[in-house]
Amino acid sequence: MGYQRVLLKLSGEALMGEQGYGIDPAIVQAIASDVAACVADGTQLAIVVGGGNIFRGLKGSAAGMDRATADYVGMLATVMNAITLQDGLERAGVPTRVQSAISMQEVAEPYIRRKAIRHMEKGRVVIFAAGTGNPFFTTDTTAALRAAEIGADVVFKATKVDGVYDKDPAKHPDARRYESLSFLEVLSSELEVMDGAAIALCKDNAIPIVVFDLFGPGNIGRAVAGEPIGTRIHP
Ligand code: UDP
Repeated sequence: MGYQRVLLKLSGEALMGEQGYGIDPAIVQAIASDVAACVADGTQLAIVVGGGNIFRGLKGSAAGMDRATADYVGMLATVMNAITLQDGLERAGVPTRVQSAISMQEVAEPYIRRKAIRHMEKGRVVIFAAGTGNPFFTTDTTAALRAAEIGADVVFKATKVDGVYDKDPAKHPDARRYESLSFLEVLSSELEVMDGAAIALCKDNAIPIVVFDLFGPGNIGRAVAGEPIGTRIHP
């Protein structure tokens, strides 16, 4: 069982590679070629990219900034990531459009739901930038929101870890990975999958989430094909 329309959430940190900050062009190219391979067979793909490799609103606000202002800076960081990712995808031969939730007409289209769907139907990858356009939200919540809006079959949360564990696998060698979890199990536990608002949105709209290791070779394609990788969160 494969998926037809997929919303892929990439954290900003995924683009950072081994660096402590910013964007590693080699990582962007690697992600782009994985994405190119999985859209070649007609899978419709939209991407929400985070901004944590450049700026996080919560960190700015902890340092004394006004929270909403700091969040807008975080949203602008996601636009830089989105445009860089677009460049990588187009160099890998994938036609791509960036739609920004904050108007920035010189560099990106505005977010228009029906146009985003049309782009995907024409085989273009759509990258949603600037989060929801609202402070106090995250790009995980953006992923869940956009997935519901465009009628995605699934949300892929591609991260550095190969699924959801009962405890931090970096600290506990006996940590156990879940193959599947229900939304209720995630909401009623301390498991860190996505923030609560994102989980609740996916639950309400019955959109499953698959958490997997972005950097496993061919993993995006395997997830698109519906292979059991990582952890599947389901209604
Ligand atoms: N952000 C926001 N509203 C949104 C999405 C993001 O204010 O709808 C801001 C928020 O400050 C956040 C930053 O953008 O810290 C970067 O996004 P996020 O932390 O979700 O990125 P990721 O962890 O995926 O790299």
